Amino acid sequence: MSSSDPSTRAGLPNAESRGDTAQAWPFDAAQGARGLLFIVSAPSGTGKTTLVERLVQGLPNLHMSRSYTSRPARAGEQDGVDYNFISRERFDAMVRDGAFLEWADVFGNCYGTSAAETEAVLARGEDVVLVIDVQGARQVRSRGIETVGIFVLPPSAAILEQRLRGRSKDSEEQIRQRLDVACREINEVAQYEYAVVNDELETAVSRIGAIVLAERARVKVMRGAAEKIIETFRRQEARRQGG
Ligand code: 5GP
Repeated sequence: MSSSDPSTRAGLPNAESRGDTAQAWPFDAAQGARGLLFIVSAPSGTGKTTLVERLVQGLPNLHMSRSYTSRPARAGEQDGVDYNFISRERFDAMVRDGAFLEWADVFGNCYGTSAAETEAVLARGEDVVLVIDVQGARQVRSRGIETVGIFVLPPSAAILEQRLRGRSKDSEEQIRQRLDVACREINEVAQYEYAVVNDELETAVSRIGAIVLAERARVKVMRGAAEKIIETFRRQEARRQGG
């Protein structure tokens, strides 16, 4: 993704941002091809993390952002791999310092996306996927940052409940809470550009992959590459005229 026009890519600034993250996004309109910023949201238990992990394995120049969280690591989770696990004090300090592009309290724990880390990837022309909840997605959009939002839907409420019970990560109370939140979150699908049903993992990965490829093929994204090709035609024409 190094061939696009910088002025049309993700991440341009907007002064309208939350007070607590006001300095979080370093926009100096740096010239150079920028990457695209994808957001994937879904109710808990929909399988979005697995989907996106598979997606980034299969597509070059696409990176899944690693969030910071004050939640303790679950069994099998690794610091610096699944999340950057930090204390609540450190999380609050990062909020105060404006280090987050967005952050949210989800099920009583805080989660946030580093502005600097996201910007560094976009600035080198590679694409980023944020796997964040609907509140975080709203914050990014409200800052006027150009994003491509993909909402992953479970096939039905009953299947989501089955999946939440099947993964046996949560207590009965947590399952009820996740279902309540899912019931509210699902209405946010209208705020996203794309909706993908996660009925079967590989099919859903292909659907999201198709979205990424289509977004990369937009003329405004391809303008730089197209102009270079057009230039070869101009030069050929000039040679023909000259000879
Ligand atoms: P979990 O604790 O199950 O890993 O994640 C709980 C929820 O937090 C999920 O919906 C997940 O998408 C969301 N989440 C993870 N990282 C971030 C983040 O950086 N920002 C926001 N807003 N939500 C996040």
